[in-house]
Amino acid sequence: MKPDPPVDRPCPVCERAAAEEVLNKGSLRLVRCCECSMVYANPVEPELASGRFYDRLGVPFYLSPDKLESDYAPVRFERELRLFRKYCQAGAVLDVGCSTGAFLFQLKSRFPDSYSVTGADVTGAALDHAESRGIEVIRQSVLDYDFAERRFDAVTFWAVIEHLSEPGRFLRLTARILKPGGHCFILVPNLKSLAVRLLGGKYRYVMPDHVNYFTAETLKRFAAREAAFGLVEIGSSHFNPLVILKDFRGGAERVADEERARLLKRTTAYKQSPLLKPARWAYTAAERALGSMGLADNLFMVLRKRR
Ligand SMILES: [Zn+2]
Repeated sequence: MKPDPPVDRPCPVCERAAAEEVLNKGSLRLVRCCECSMVYANPVEPELASGRFYDRLGVPFYLSPDKLESDYAPVRFERELRLFRKYCQAGAVLDVGCSTGAFLFQLKSRFPDSYSVTGADVTGAALDHAESRGIEVIRQSVLDYDFAERRFDAVTFWAVIEHLSEPGRFLRLTARILKPGGHCFILVPNLKSLAVRLLGGKYRYVMPDHVNYFTAETLKRFAAREAAFGLVEIGSSHFNPLVILKDFRGGAERVADEERARLLKRTTAYKQSPLLKPARWAYTAAERALGSMGLADNLFMVLRKRR
């Protein structure tokens, strides 16, 4: 059987087609939109466009003991939970791309009476795990799911939008299924982070699974597509110096999934170790400084559906 040809896509922010090439890394080809300066992968593998890729990735990556342990560690979603609680103290929550369900699990176990939670993903094996932790799951793309009259107080996309070949459709759906006054939370890698500035294409998160590369400017433009939303907060957070050091020395074309999971686990362990308290203080200060300069690893954005 002949493999399906790569899928050609317009700019995920403004839908125009004119773009110039900025980087090639293995099978990944990044272009910059001539209209809005969004950087995105084009073309993309059909498996990535359809989401089938993530179902295959399921067992080796998401369910590796290292990745699970790191995801379910109480510190893993600390920043996300803080941001989330600031705007949504109770209600129905949908986590799109919930993977093994760790964010929802933390939310439920810390505030058991406040939320009803649902996770959606296309990775079967990861969802089995989420379900085993008591989380209601949707086993298909939310784009095809019939929500009927169901509405949510919050919809979250933690490190998900960068994987979607048509992110605009997800934003439109979110605007529809949120209650008026409800919030949409988005976290994506930051194209203007210190890590990208230092490492460029050597950075491990410049990889084929990531098809959208946002800056604060293009993320705001992306949100502005939906008139139903008002921008509540945008900023930059998270900092992983271990990844920078490793990639600076290494710089493999694609860091093996197991290796990525192992390093995440180590980072989480460092964050929890009492011996590293002074180092953690310095680390927190560094993260805060980078965040305030817009140079931290990720961008976060909170949108509110107008009443
Ligand atoms: Zn564009």
